[in-house]
Amino acid sequence: QFTISDEVKEFLNSNHQLLINGEWMPSSSNEKIEVFDPANEQLLTEVDSGNAADIDAAVGAARKALTGEWSKITSHDRARMLDRLADDIEANFSVLSEIEVLDNGMPLELAQYSIASHGTTLLRYFASWANKLHGQTIPVSPAGAINGESLTYTRKEPIGVVGAIIPWNSPLIFSILKLGPALAAGCTIVLKPAELTPISALFLGKLIQKSGIPPGVVNIVTGYGETAGQALSEHPGVDKITFTGSTEVGKKIVEASIGNLKKVTLELGGKNPVVIFPDADLEKAIPGAARACFFLQGQNCMAGTRLFVHEDIYQVVIAGIKEMAEAFTIGHGLIPGNDFGPLISKTQKERVMSYIGIGLEEGAELLTGGNSYGDQGHFVQPTIFSNVDGGMRIAKEEIFGPVLPVVTYENINEALDLINSKDRPLGLYYFGSNKDEQANILNNTSSGGVTINNVVGHIQQKDLPFGGVGPSGIGRYHSYDGFKNFSNQRAVFKDIGFRFDKLFETIRPPYKGSIEKVLKSLLK
Ligand code: NAP
Ligand code: MG
Repeated sequence: QFTISDEVKEFLNSNHQLLINGEWMPSSSNEKIEVFDPANEQLLTEVDSGNAADIDAAVGAARKALTGEWSKITSHDRARMLDRLADDIEANFSVLSEIEVLDNGMPLELAQYSIASHGTTLLRYFASWANKLHGQTIPVSPAGAINGESLTYTRKEPIGVVGAIIPWNSPLIFSILKLGPALAAGCTIVLKPAELTPISALFLGKLIQKSGIPPGVVNIVTGYGETAGQALSEHPGVDKITFTGSTEVGKKIVEASIGNLKKVTLELGGKNPVVIFPDADLEKAIPGAARACFFLQGQNCMAGTRLFVHEDIYQVVIAGIKEMAEAFTIGHGLIPGNDFGPLISKTQKERVMSYIGIGLEEGAELLTGGNSYGDQGHFVQPTIFSNVDGGMRIAKEEIFGPVLPVVTYENINEALDLINSKDRPLGLYYFGSNKDEQANILNNTSSGGVTINNVVGHIQQKDLPFGGVGPSGIGRYHSYDGFKNFSNQRAVFKDIGFRFDKLFETIRPPYKGSIEKVLKSLLK
């Protein structure tokens, strides 16, 4: 069994409200959302169910803060505040990781790893961009400018009020990933966590209150997607939505954004292929393929959930990944040694179990797993299907669970057909050493990112642009790209002394007569 620390108990037992304009206040809905531990279905706590009126109040606070004290704080001080927040997250590392396990179900070590590798690392990375946000001087040399020059430059200005909508699969990390670049760029933000995992964001809200970041800069409204999320995406006072979640909801957000033409970045889902070439180093490829699928129980947008293996190595590969799948210790993430947690909810478990049923009906061979696990919690065993045809639903549809369909291929063209039989994914992984095959895959496929001979690769790198292509997303996260899209670029042209006589000198035939006349009348 496991124990919950006193600090976390106290936090869970506290009255959770919405953070609006620097203060905790109740939702005007007077409704609560119950939050459960997915590993044992115990009630953890309740949070407020924010509605459209709460979103309106939060957006109002964010808008006021945008042009208030926050706009006068130097970029150096913004960076310092974000660093301070990262320090506070580190000081609360054990509490936050415990909350993340209870809220989401992930194993403790994974929660700790993700806070370190993604949370504070990315926050500090974005803090370091805050005071390097600059425009350019551009020598446009308009005709007539003295010495052939004018003062012409661009400024990077905060895009404005940002609405951030995040999923449940890594709740704390997504809160941090949305806050970091927005605040570094001088924006203000309204954060809507997932209804299933709202509590780490609320703990973060307490740290934000202590960080020196002025009231109203960060507002947190817990609530349902259909109410709070929808209201945020529609709100005319929001300038940009940064969203991570499903393709289906991503499309709704684009529709809702049309009213005031919000800028939208979307990190969406997909069915990411993993390809193992016959000359791959199997000591890397086998654990790589297993981890790619079973990390976070497959509830990961980057999960490698369709495995294509060359027929020459097929038997060795499936024996290896079966062994790895069976070696996971399933159970509550706070019990030391457990490395495979539950799915997030009953609905998600039922969805995954129904896909397992579909796989069996489609005639795939169940190599291991296939059942739920334990008598409480939403556990599903790591499941592998062999003898899968690339056209089967389990090979094509995003299951968002620990189900790995394995398909064999005979030659590179067949592998390419398999990869390209679905629209473009977020990630593509391949293992092998043949340079021609690698180039062939790279040149004849498309995906948001590619990782070669590894599975974590580009998603882990703070400095590398991360995002989708086609239905897997719009825009980039992480990296300078993921930062600069929180700014507007404004061009400034300053007249530092035109000389009209010089201007007219530069007008040549055939424009001489007509243009000269128009310009003279314009410049009168
Ligand atoms: P989801 O249903 O799209 O939910 C994501 C967020 O959107 C939640 O906060 C949700 O609120 C909210 N939402 C729901 N309906 C909305 C609406 N009409 N307007 C505005 N917001 C709305 O996704 P999920 O089930 O939580 O996560 C699974 C999906 O996310 C998968 O497809 C996965 O691949 C993708 N994902 C992508 C990434 C990435 O980085 N690309 C990362 C993680 C997950 P509720 O909480 O009330 O539902
Ligand atoms: Mg929902």
